[in-house]
Amino acid sequence: MKITSSIYFYPFSGGLENNCNTIVLTGDVPIIVDPGHKHLWPSLKAKIMDDGLNPADFKMALFTHCHPDHMEAGQILEEEYGTVQAMSAVEKEFYDGPGQGFFPWMGLDPPTGDIGRLLDPGVLDLGDKVLELYLTPGHSPGGLCLHWPKEGLLVTGDIIFSHSFGRTDFPGGSLVELKKSVNRLKALDKVEMALPGHGPAIMGAKAIADNFAYVLDIMDRY
Ligand SMILES: [Zn+2]
Repeated sequence: MKITSSIYFYPFSGGLENNCNTIVLTGDVPIIVDPGHKHLWPSLKAKIMDDGLNPADFKMALFTHCHPDHMEAGQILEEEYGTVQAMSAVEKEFYDGPGQGFFPWMGLDPPTGDIGRLLDPGVLDLGDKVLELYLTPGHSPGGLCLHWPKEGLLVTGDIIFSHSFGRTDFPGGSLVELKKSVNRLKALDKVEMALPGHGPAIMGAKAIADNFAYVLDIMDRY
């Protein structure tokens, strides 16, 4: 689904299984954020191609975090198109350790392929786009959120959703850290669309501010 001339959002709508939302940013250096599960890639790929995009153009598969429902299909992109898989350096350390346990736990094959790029918080230069990456632990130790101030885009991963927030009971999770991360995101200026890792997009500065207030209120009761 095209949101702007360079932002495409693919919310996951299957009711019986889990997968994440996927985001594609086109431009000088096209990237795909959170390509989801391997077995769901063919249907996602079809939707992407229906929008006139070519997955072979994707230079990077950026993972907000290393949970299989967000990153598993990155291996296919790397194998088929040479797309570079990327996550935060902090997350990679976790991925190489306890993070491997998520795959057998979800009945999945162990991951192959290479995390070819380790990202640090700060500027991510994509040529015609300059994004800011924020390290947002809490759901996982090295979760990343992406902010593109020029377009008012915030990609929130599994930190905050519409009326909910990411689980903190997985290995590497922390409610204290998650609250800090939510507050960090709340403080950002220039956010007009928040695209979360699961569930619907939150559109408009007022709706986004209201959602932060609502979610922080729930978190305070935990
Ligand atoms: Zn997750």
